[in-house]
Amino acid sequence: MALNLILLGPPGAGKGTQAKRLAERHGLLAIATGDMLRAEVAAGTEIGREAKAIMERGELVPDALIIAMLRARLATPEAKAGFILDGFPRTVPQAEALDALLAEQGMALTAVIELAVDDQALIERIAGRFSCARCGAGYHDRFKPTKVPGVCDICGSTEFVRRADDRPETVAARLAAYHRQTAPLLPYYRAKGLLVTIDGMAPIEAVAEALDRVIAERAH
Ligand code: AMP
Repeated sequence: MALNLILLGPPGAGKGTQAKRLAERHGLLAIATGDMLRAEVAAGTEIGREAKAIMERGELVPDALIIAMLRARLATPEAKAGFILDGFPRTVPQAEALDALLAEQGMALTAVIELAVDDQALIERIAGRFSCARCGAGYHDRFKPTKVPGVCDICGSTEFVRRADDRPETVAARLAAYHRQTAPLLPYYRAKGLLVTIDGMAPIEAVAEALDRVIAERAH
């Protein structure tokens, strides 16, 4: 049975960091809808043009657009071998659409893992984050700086970017969207017996170990 995971949690909880690591360790396809949208914006596609202003306001893009994007990605052979979703679903209609899509393809979720973090810590985490402009590796001014200042640990590039929606004004809107639209997914998945909550306030390595323990328990 393929390992099919969802990472749930507010912006800044560490979903992207942990999803990349899990994907490598367990050979899973990491599907990050935020990254997919940022690529569409950068490429100036029609989806990108529709999503740009919404993302800059810290609001959610329409369910139909995201669901269509996800349907295409889940239909690929790489997804069949196991996936980890980061940033999707974000609303109950998205979760319902995912259930239907998985059922259609004869796939099922292994676990939905919540990274629990308090809002004050999130603001601090988000304010310091940046990533490599070439390979996308994620860093943080305080919690995960590059080993050599100004040089990417992974690819050696010296160009870095900060997300346009990581400004403090936008972060407040993104947190509000999480509490209003995404938090209802916690009872949704709890009722299905899929939800596992782990402490997202712990250091990156400790969170990674906790995730591996959950996977070891759930995988068989
Ligand atoms: P993220 O990188 O996951 O924080 O996503 C960045 C932004 O992309 C969000 O603030 C939303 O505007 C948009 N976005 C990403 N995933 C979704 C989703 N599943 N549903 C709606 N909007 C999304």
